[in-house]
Amino acid sequence: MPRLRGHHLICLQFFVGKGYSRGFVRNTLKVLREKDKITIVDCLDDVCRACPYNTNGRCSNPRTSNERIRGLDELALSLFSVRVGSRIRWDEVRRKLPKVLPIWIKKACKSCSWWKVCKNEMLKFKC
Ligand code: SF4
Repeated sequence: MPRLRGHHLICLQFFVGKGYSRGFVRNTLKVLREKDKITIVDCLDDVCRACPYNTNGRCSNPRTSNERIRGLDELALSLFSVRVGSRIRWDEVRRKLPKVLPIWIKKACKSCSWWKVCKNEMLKFKC
């Protein structure tokens, strides 16, 4: 059962096989194959574990900050009304996504370096 942090509940929905390294992509695809039921965490998760920016338990992505990432985790969890330590089904995330996306796009996506990659996938959802 994958362990995911808040913002990955949303970002993984639009994953198209691109990422920070080949190892990162391979690992993320593995997480997606096992995604039916998810445990929510508030730290580096099963996606972060293969990321080159996973540095001593913190996200060191130079395009953002660890604090900003944690803020996005909190926003995602509040939009889905789930708590750290709880479990959620992937299907439930998908069901709630159309309602969540307009706020998420405004507050998270527009300033994200992956926005151009995710945008086309997002258009498939009715918001
Ligand atoms: S960039 Fe940061 S939050 Fe994103 S996968 Fe890497 S370590 Fe995790």
